[in-house]
Amino acid sequence: MINVCVNGYGTIGKRVVDAIRKHNKLNLLGIAKYTPDQDAKIANMNGVNVFVPKESVPTFEAKGIEVDGTVDELLESSDTVVDASPDDFGAKNKQIYVQKEKKAIFQGGEEAGIGFSFNARCNFDGAKGKDFIRVVSCNTTGYCRVIGPLAERYKIRHVFASLIRRGADLNDTKGSQLNSVEWKAKSHHADDVKSVIDVPISSIAFKIPHTHSHVNSMLVEFDGGKPGKEDLYEIFKNERVALLNGATTSSQIVEAARDLGLKRFDIFMPCLLMNTVMSNGNSMFLSFSVPQESIVVPENIDAVIAQHDSMGKEDSMRLTDELLGIKNIKPQLEKVFG
Ligand code: NAD
Repeated sequence: MINVCVNGYGTIGKRVVDAIRKHNKLNLLGIAKYTPDQDAKIANMNGVNVFVPKESVPTFEAKGIEVDGTVDELLESSDTVVDASPDDFGAKNKQIYVQKEKKAIFQGGEEAGIGFSFNARCNFDGAKGKDFIRVVSCNTTGYCRVIGPLAERYKIRHVFASLIRRGADLNDTKGSQLNSVEWKAKSHHADDVKSVIDVPISSIAFKIPHTHSHVNSMLVEFDGGKPGKEDLYEIFKNERVALLNGATTSSQIVEAARDLGLKRFDIFMPCLLMNTVMSNGNSMFLSFSVPQESIVVPENIDAVIAQHDSMGKEDSMRLTDELLGIKNIKPQLEKVFG
């Protein structure tokens, strides 16, 4: 068993905790909490051990939160720390992990230099034995899952990526302007994709005021042969990508996830929007939505497994998919929007 803790119990951390608890090769020691809030109480109620900074123990206990030990003790007893702290906090936390000689998995809000940039589909084997791994961001994970299988079959001359990003998560108090669209040309996403796949890509990102899912479009220019629209069904048949024919709004997809009874509406995979697929000459245009809160959860699990060389790529991804229900969610969504 690999002893794992999760440092940071927000949007990503709480989902990774749930996934770790389902995995028979991973033992969740607990979470590190810094704020004595409702999330700490829910963790108590769900039987998740809560560890806090030594000086904060009295504050947590005064609020009726059961404390199982200090953050320091938690880190000491862990084989791997999944760091799900806010952007750039991971870099500070890394100094502690280095000092304690602990392995860690970081998230996409950290700079690429913090560790091996990881996507299970594209470079699982490269992560074997690495002390520090960075699961790339939600959008980059979406691009890797879509571009990876295409790049294996066809020569890609260039990808032009245009992102429409959600302004905030459902539980955020931070986020975009209420009545404005923000954009950034030459956004970091292209370089982030290149940290995983060797593909020529440039990107622009727009941020808009809504909470559920990013919607990304790509113009893929192929060199030589290119897939037809029908080929996409075969290419992505066994991938962590759902192919939706009939969806026309992101809210329909979220509502379907709610009506299918999925916890937190999590679908864990990008949805390729088949009614956006257009071809012209050597180019194909396509769009996909990204469930930002959940898409990186499978990668966090596979990253820990790869880091400890505990299972091979296929077995790890298959088990993760089973545990998270991805094997059912994909055909269900494809049927709903068929
Ligand atoms: P979040 O703000 O929801 O959660 C972060 C948690 O970390 C909070 O509970 C906070 O109290 C806690 N924290 C504070 N200080 C800490 C410290 N020093 N060490 C550890 N934890 C600390 O953030 P999030 O959305 O879960 O994002 C976490 C990481 O995942 C970021 O790198 C982010 O870029 C990345 N990410 C986020 C999303 C998303 O859509 N939310 C998607 C993919 C990747």
